[in-house]
Amino acid sequence: MTETNNYKICTFCGIKKEIIDFYPSKSQKFGVASCCRKCTIAKQRDYVKKNKEKVKKYHKSHYELNKEKFSKLGKEYRDNNREKMLLAWAKTRAKKEGIPFDIEECDIVIPVSCPVLGMPIYSKYSKERKFTPPNTPTLDKIVPELGYTKGNVRVISWRANNLKRDASIHELKCIVKYMEEHFVRTYTINP
Ligand SMILES: [Zn+2]
Repeated sequence: MTETNNYKICTFCGIKKEIIDFYPSKSQKFGVASCCRKCTIAKQRDYVKKNKEKVKKYHKSHYELNKEKFSKLGKEYRDNNREKMLLAWAKTRAKKEGIPFDIEECDIVIPVSCPVLGMPIYSKYSKERKFTPPNTPTLDKIVPELGYTKGNVRVISWRANNLKRDASIHELKCIVKYMEEHFVRTYTINP
């Protein structure tokens, strides 16, 4: 017997594989497709390669017809997967800037309030706002040169991150000194 309850032969590559290696298909034998997952993907890729324009046209019209739905889905996804989004952005930035990256989703913990400024952190995404809200969670590299690496990242508000950027403690102290002196003088001369 060539086929059992746990195994099936792929009609495309002819290899005997476990049932789990086939996509589910109710109309087929054993409730799975006749062709294995690997071959199904390869066949799909081949089709896309040979029908580039047709596929492009289909995706474009499908997107146009469901624009609102996609936009809503995208927003929902970003809202519910803020950690994933932060991770993806960090990965892209690390690649672009050539800095180390070894963090995983579990390394990203979004706090209720900003550990620097104490303001609440809102993790809901808003497409309507044209600027980045100060309360948006952002990933901070504690020591910028160490990149997005384990133990070197923390979620802080966009506002705090924007103020800090890549400044050193010395630079920030100088700014505070300058601001204090400046404001003291301004208020003394023009109260
Ligand atoms: Zn196969």
